[in-house]
Amino acid sequence: MASEKSELRIYNSLNGEKEIFKPLKEGFVGFYVCGPTVYSFVHLGNCRTFISFDMVYRYLKHLGFKVRYVRNITDAGHLENDAEEGEDKIAKKARLEELEPMEIVQQYTINFHETLSKFNNLPPSIEPTATGHIIEQIEMVKKIIDNGLAYESNGSVYFDVEKYNKDNYYGELSKRKIEDLISGTRSLDGQNEKKSPLDFALWKNAKPEHIMKWPSPWSIGFPGWHLECSAMSTKYLGEQFDIHGGGMDLKFPHHECEIAQGTASTGKKPVRYWMHANMLTLNGKKMSKSTGNTLLPDELFSGENDVLEKGYDPIVVRFFMMQAHYRSTLDFSSEALNAAEKGFSRLMEGLDLLKTLTTSESSSQDVNSLIDSFYAAMNDDFNTPILIAKLFDAVKYIQNVKNGTATISKQDKKILEQKINEFTFDILGLKKINEGKSSNLETVMELVLQMRQKAREEKDWDTADAIRDKLNEAKITVKDDKEGVTWKAE
Ligand code: AMP
Ligand code: ZN
Repeated sequence: MASEKSELRIYNSLNGEKEIFKPLKEGFVGFYVCGPTVYSFVHLGNCRTFISFDMVYRYLKHLGFKVRYVRNITDAGHLENDAEEGEDKIAKKARLEELEPMEIVQQYTINFHETLSKFNNLPPSIEPTATGHIIEQIEMVKKIIDNGLAYESNGSVYFDVEKYNKDNYYGELSKRKIEDLISGTRSLDGQNEKKSPLDFALWKNAKPEHIMKWPSPWSIGFPGWHLECSAMSTKYLGEQFDIHGGGMDLKFPHHECEIAQGTASTGKKPVRYWMHANMLTLNGKKMSKSTGNTLLPDELFSGENDVLEKGYDPIVVRFFMMQAHYRSTLDFSSEALNAAEKGFSRLMEGLDLLKTLTTSESSSQDVNSLIDSFYAAMNDDFNTPILIAKLFDAVKYIQNVKNGTATISKQDKKILEQKINEFTFDILGLKKINEGKSSNLETVMELVLQMRQKAREEKDWDTADAIRDKLNEAKITVKDDKEGVTWKAE
């Protein structure tokens, strides 16, 4: 029996090593991923990170873990340029579009959900919002102040990085040294409120023109951007939990600050395994909203963008992403997508062919070890490109059985079909393209082929020829061989 029990190893960004995954509570996994700031359409780079973690979620579930997957919606507190001063990204968009901030939030949250479901992403177990957890954030600030690691200044509250660093290591995740950080900081507006330029805001006193603000013990203001993830992960997953994910660009300062906030408020390191997904690039540069170097999912599906030759199905795009390891950068290009489209069809054809195979007494290939290789790939830090290579090994074997140069037993055919389907659909999250449409087509084709057969039996060559010509016109080819009639639509 193929064993999924061999251990799952996860590359932990904290120490740069692949570690055997052991959850805090056997059988359960607490999993947190930083969600989007909903002030604009998600671009394909954002989608890659969320698709990577969807694959992680799917595999953990496949292994039998009961996973609580929390992914937040940032709907307040994220200031322009990820800085400590400036306008709230959502409030700014609301001002420009003359809408309520919550109208902006609603519009882009809906778009985010619709987009991810096109990519066949599963929804998280809980999707909390920053504005829905202001009280929890205020409570966390109070704890950090009580523990002596934050201070109030002019109605704002700052985290005391240098004091924290005396007993802890601020920079442990991003491997930075506090001395280098200090010498690298610039003088910024509002810095005079801080003891040190490294200190970051837990709570900000709102200027009169700031519209998204709440009462607190210190001022009418708003939480610092890093705080929401600490408050919400603690609320739903506990003071310590198993896995925290996010894009590589969030390591510093966002995740570094999350570690500091969690440790300062509870005395415990909040996260056991930190996972970081790498960037999608376009023309070799990070896809990023701020530089305008982006591609929107809808442009990709419709093909309406200069960098594209044509439109692509979201599932082909997902397959393209799965062909790269989540920790590698991935460069987007039309050529790469065209190749992915071909590869995806080949995999789907292999799966269809498997159903039609005639079985033999025994198998000419060790099917269990083939299946073991699927698990080995995924257990090695979710190595989807290796998994896909192994799935193609299986497709080659299936083709060989079909053309008579290999054999498969009934038992092996059954287990291979089950596992190849699980890995392709449940774990990689792929699905058949145009499934609904193709089943309609299948029904119609069944009828057409019956009529063609009847015409041939009755030697009604005119009708048989007319059917053939019409099918050719529709780019459907029909083949008659020993095993019967097969057809293929282009
Ligand atoms: P944001 O809405 O800006 O907070 O970003 C949402 C998520 O997308 C974060 O986890 C980012 O790290 C991630 N992200 C942003 N740009 C890219 C990119 N080019 N490739 C992959 N992930 C990205
Ligand atoms: Zn976060």
